[in-house]
Amino acid sequence: MMRQISILGSTGSIGLSTLDVIRAHPELFKVFALTASKQVELLAQQCIEFSPALAVIGDAQGAARLTALLLITNSRTQVLYGPDALVNAVTDSGCDTVMAAIVGAAGLVPTLAAAKAGKRVLLANKEALVMSGHLFMQAMKSGGGELLPIDSEHNAIFQCLPPQFTKASQAALGVEELWLTASGGPFRDTPLEQLTTITPAQACAHPNWVMGRKISVDSATMMNKGLEVIEAFWLFGLPLEKIKVLIHPQSVVHSMVRYVDGSVIAQLGQPDMRTPIAYGLAWPNRIEAGVAPLNLAQLAALSFSEPDLIHFPCLALAFLAAQAGGIAPTVLNAANEIAVAAFLDEGMPYLQIPKVVEKTLNAIQACPVESIEVILDIDAQARRVASDFIKVI
Ligand code: NAD
Ligand code: MG
Repeated sequence: MMRQISILGSTGSIGLSTLDVIRAHPELFKVFALTASKQVELLAQQCIEFSPALAVIGDAQGAARLTALLLITNSRTQVLYGPDALVNAVTDSGCDTVMAAIVGAAGLVPTLAAAKAGKRVLLANKEALVMSGHLFMQAMKSGGGELLPIDSEHNAIFQCLPPQFTKASQAALGVEELWLTASGGPFRDTPLEQLTTITPAQACAHPNWVMGRKISVDSATMMNKGLEVIEAFWLFGLPLEKIKVLIHPQSVVHSMVRYVDGSVIAQLGQPDMRTPIAYGLAWPNRIEAGVAPLNLAQLAALSFSEPDLIHFPCLALAFLAAQAGGIAPTVLNAANEIAVAAFLDEGMPYLQIPKVVEKTLNAIQACPVESIEVILDIDAQARRVASDFIKVI
């Protein structure tokens, strides 16, 4: 069967890797829609190469420019813009598979729409699940589609669990714990006092992975691993105390499952997102992903240790928000997005990131999470509060 793919965020790091895998398998995959926020020229190039039915860009100005760029070379692609068009791109009956790779909360509404529409959802956009875990999982269930984790750790765990695994069958299948691995980022061994002068370029220079700027900073603070604990909680349904984090600087073991009989099953591979992307695209089959084979004999050693929560206060805050539940993960995520943007674009000191997140978590009153409107409202409120804290730093 030829899969028809819509990519939310096709110009980003995950989007480019997804197109790389698709490019190598024209007999299996066809691009239905491509979307981007601002990168008009790159989106135009992608449209010329993949000839999708639909391209979506952030605003009217971008759409006019994209239309002009496609005028001579590509008459097949319809150009639309704005948030509603993102929803069209993933709910259209012409698409059966959605790569959710917009960064941050902006991806929530279209990713949720894909879930409700019963598509196969390849989930890279962890923030969407962190913000709205319960509602998102419900939407997947009611839509009846397949949810395949693309985040490398969750993809690894998915591969290490038995195919018949469900939340209800966990005990019968002997699943005891999930171990998420983390590289520890570029500042794993840097003393805290030396982090006062960290620049965005230093924070984005991840030792093992090449990623977008926001997730690179999240990896440096280890907020990324905190978001991933919450992501694993919703995806696999194990209690939080059974989801563990292990520092593993080599990023070769992507995560593990510990079973009741003493077995630990791990997934290993190069730190290259094309492996989980190819897995999600072709599941339950496997296809060539363009990734070099792993040479274990060449690796000097694999090491593991417990994370230090004093060194990584963002990870501690994420654990607290996960335990609190309710709106806390939504607030955590929103405050973190605002704080990371202020660090990247406005020169806010790196060490203020956990402080802004902590103050925002303490400032927002808990309330029941009944609908997506409540989530979006809390998200907006947390952004305002975090921005106000940043103004007085
Ligand atoms: P990126 O910054 O490289 O790309 C983001 C994409 O989203 C771009 O195409 C951009 O145009 C689009 N976008 C941004 N803001 C938007 C908005 N307001 N509306 C519509 N589109 C918007 O990010 P990335 O590294 O590719 O990460 C994407 C997602 O995947 C994130 O949620 C990240 O946590 C997750 N993820 C990434 C990696 C990785 O290796 N890069 C690994 C695991 C998970
Ligand atoms: Mg990850």
